[in-house]
Amino acid sequence: MPSVGCSAAIQVLPGDVVSRIAAGEVIERPAAVVKELIENSLDAGSKTITVDVKDGGLSLIRVTDDGEGIARSELLLAFERHATSKLRSDRDLASVTSMGFRGEALPSIASVSKVTVSTATGPDSIGAQATLIGGVPGPVRDVAPVRGTRIEVADLFFNQPARKKFLKSEATEFSHITHVVQQAGLAWPSVHFRMTHNGQEILNYPAAAESRDRILQVYRPVFIDRMMEIKGRVPGCAVYGVAVDPLHAKSGKQPQDLFVNRRPVKSATVFHAVMEGYGASLSKGRHPTFVLFLNIDSERIDVNVHPAKREVRFADSESIHRVVRHAVRHAIAGPERVSVLEAAPEREMVSMSDQAPAAPNFSARPPGPFVDPGGDAVVHSARSDEGAQLPLIREDAEPYKQPTAPEIVPLGQLLRRYLVVQVGQELHVIDQHTAHERVLYQRLLRQWERRAVASQPLLIPEPVELSPAHFALVDRYREDLAQLGLSIDPFGTSTVAIRAVPVGLGKIDAAAFTQDLLDDLAQWGRLPSLEGRAQPVLASLACHGAVRAGRAMGLPEIAQLVHDWVQEGLITTCPHGRRTAFRLSADELDKLFGRVGWA
Ligand code: ADP
Ligand code: MG
Repeated sequence: MPSVGCSAAIQVLPGDVVSRIAAGEVIERPAAVVKELIENSLDAGSKTITVDVKDGGLSLIRVTDDGEGIARSELLLAFERHATSKLRSDRDLASVTSMGFRGEALPSIASVSKVTVSTATGPDSIGAQATLIGGVPGPVRDVAPVRGTRIEVADLFFNQPARKKFLKSEATEFSHITHVVQQAGLAWPSVHFRMTHNGQEILNYPAAAESRDRILQVYRPVFIDRMMEIKGRVPGCAVYGVAVDPLHAKSGKQPQDLFVNRRPVKSATVFHAVMEGYGASLSKGRHPTFVLFLNIDSERIDVNVHPAKREVRFADSESIHRVVRHAVRHAIAGPERVSVLEAAPEREMVSMSDQAPAAPNFSARPPGPFVDPGGDAVVHSARSDEGAQLPLIREDAEPYKQPTAPEIVPLGQLLRRYLVVQVGQELHVIDQHTAHERVLYQRLLRQWERRAVASQPLLIPEPVELSPAHFALVDRYREDLAQLGLSIDPFGTSTVAIRAVPVGLGKIDAAAFTQDLLDDLAQWGRLPSLEGRAQPVLASLACHGAVRAGRAMGLPEIAQLVHDWVQEGLITTCPHGRRTAFRLSADELDKLFGRVGWA
């Protein structure tokens, strides 16, 4: 038994032991290798990054990029401890803008695996390749000059049996890897990411123009539809992204993605600010989900507080807290009518310009791109793959009819997600998905209160495979769900099929909807009141049944939707607080253009 008594002499540890101890801090599992290699590829200015994984990363991780490459003369230097091209002195540490800077990743990875690196820089006429086994480098060989770098990491922890034992199943390790690639994808929309596992393509995110598009590639469209846009700014710090509409908050906590200067990090400060922003609008047992990006002057944060850079320290956490809290609160309870005219406080002026970045498109774009030239709603719906045919939403009784309904003149669609309409004497820009969702929700709720939710059989019931626990959950509440217009049949012992849904909904993605429904049902045990149980399910139905953002809408369809929205009295009331429309009255327009007193 080795003695660790006080008689042992002090010794400096051999270099390879130091490496392996340090490697433990940075490289705790295959996903950490992927994260470090991707960060290096990003630092090298790559436009395409391909990750190939075998057996959950245990037998092979290969990251290929088209970045600037490593000069042949520096190839082995890159694997020496604290060798980095990204920092020259500790002064640079105060303003790190690259993903890496510690010069630790490659030596750490190499010390616990068998690495082969192949690389060529732009001017190279011949590429260079080297293999390191347990950190010991072999000779540098010639290879074909493909610009960029490919690093293959085989047999991770082959010389660390103890560490290898702590790894979880291949499936678990692979899911950590997937998470890492998704996070990198979210932070870098302009970079094309691909990933394969055991030869099968798992992810493919072509370069996207905007964060929003990348969020769509990473998460499902229905996720985006449930989200509010978040925007806020103070000097030195901007926050943007999406956070869940409180109406759609669920018991699940995924995703809660935060990026500070494109690094995926956890921050108690930001999380707390998000919670405060929601305040009472999140009911008990519901959690916020979000994808938020914070951009902060690099002098105002310290990224060097965690070996794997998973945490950051803010110089001024107070103002970060404030900007995040305000941005979330503003998205939820944003003034229905942004005050541009009355001596508006400065904050509102800022939010006004933030809210309307697309304004120039009004005049700069010809009507073509956002007005459906065909103009026929039914034909249009038939063409669209969403298939939500708005004119079908009809109800015999329309109890909310106002005596003097304002005239509705549909003008067109903007960015395929906002309807531009004249309502009475006002200009309205209306979020098509949210407005339709609110209409459907009001109607479903009213029908449910009368216990008269009419349902409509689906032509082709879609089977959805469930875990045993989820299967039992659906089975248990089958009769209650029928009250909500939902007929769900068990199908064997682990599959259910949605046979009917309430009348008036568009085409529903059965699998995605079932996922939401399961979240709702998981809460039912804790919700004694019928309303408490029904409302979230009706909200999920409304969300899934509503027209998606991104679908082109013709003028008749727009008129119909806005008509329904007005009829429901949703212009002024917004039951769950989220902004559905931006309005400018004739008065406000006149004042805006200096036509005061114009009549
Ligand atoms: P760090 O990223 O902290 O500088 P690493 O150990 O991760 O340290 O990488 C060491 C050096 O190797 C980097 O500074 C960079 O010069 C070079 N390097 C690593 N990966 C790549 C790559 N994919 N493309 C170009 N250069 C790379
Ligand atoms: Mg690095």
